[in-house]
Amino acid sequence: MRNSARCVPFARRAPLPPVNRGFFHERNIEKKVAACGGLASAAQKQGRGCHGGQHRTAGSEGLQSLNMRLFPCDRYPLPLPDGHRFPIDKYMLLRRRLEQHAAAGMPLEFIEPHAATDDELLRVHARGYLGRVMAGTLSPEEVRRIGFPWSRELVERSLRSTGAAVDAAAAALEDGIAASLAGGTHHAGTDWGEGFCVFNDTAVAAREMQARGSVERVLILDCDVHQGNGTAEIFADDPTVFTMSMHGARNFPLRKYPSSLDVALEDGTGDDEYLRALAAALAESFDRARADIVLYIAGADPYEGDRLGRLGLTKAGLLERDRMVLAAATTAATPVAIVCGGGYCQDLEAIVDIHAATMLLAAGWPARRESRRSRSGLV
Ligand SMILES: [Zn+2]
Repeated sequence: MRNSARCVPFARRAPLPPVNRGFFHERNIEKKVAACGGLASAAQKQGRGCHGGQHRTAGSEGLQSLNMRLFPCDRYPLPLPDGHRFPIDKYMLLRRRLEQHAAAGMPLEFIEPHAATDDELLRVHARGYLGRVMAGTLSPEEVRRIGFPWSRELVERSLRSTGAAVDAAAAALEDGIAASLAGGTHHAGTDWGEGFCVFNDTAVAAREMQARGSVERVLILDCDVHQGNGTAEIFADDPTVFTMSMHGARNFPLRKYPSSLDVALEDGTGDDEYLRALAAALAESFDRARADIVLYIAGADPYEGDRLGRLGLTKAGLLERDRMVLAAATTAATPVAIVCGGGYCQDLEAIVDIHAATMLLAAGWPARRESRRSRSGLV
């Protein structure tokens, strides 16, 4: 475990701009990353962070500086009719689960996200669509396509979950990794909402980071089981944002806009086949994207128990997926902002298990913590 202290940080790139690519030419980086990833994975299996109790030791010099920043939205309620199929309570349960881990010593910090502003939203969404959402003048067809009844609370919730992705991206650029405890609203396109998505949170975060001059190029890794059609449409003509979607071929949405890279999987695809395809997709995505930040949609819906997923991944397989994404990002020295993506298992605790495992893996990821310590001058 002591070796993990020599793991390579994701990002020593503040202040920004200018974008700082190629700054990171440490030798043997892949060996170090592999060592770090192995440690994290082994520690996770044992139910603890990869540094074990080390963060508490470091904490005596500045525990606060080691926390992973999480942006929850569940305090902004979304009223749904009885029997609605969207499992909205999962977000509250996820926050509570992670708060328990924080109380037990995991380096997690919970921060209220800002409400996305008009300026942020209009970098992605059409003014007319935004106006109809805000004023409650969406057509019945538009409301049906979103799948949630319109309400003032829906608007606030959507603004917060989009703001959470923006905040997580900004935090990731400072800390290496940060996360929204919501979002992954990848079905929302330029002038439409769809499939429980009102605004496209990762698209807004990507454009906002670019507008701030924090990044030039963005990689959106979409591992929700449904294709990221809205994201693909938004960035269809934007070579600065690379979109990768790995999804069920026969799953929603019927109309799949082409991403920069689409990996369509057959029904019932299990861990081995999925992870093999992911390895190839990650290699190609990082190679082609040359990104300054990764926005990772860590959907829980490829899970074998998901009602809408149609794939056959186990919880262990999903955690291995997360580990591979973080390892690839570490190798590329690219910060990662995580958003939750979908999860529609009847058993809400199973959804929470999957998302919580993602967040705990990230919180204990050696390079993240090294990055934060470097920034705060602890090492
Ligand atoms: Zn989904």
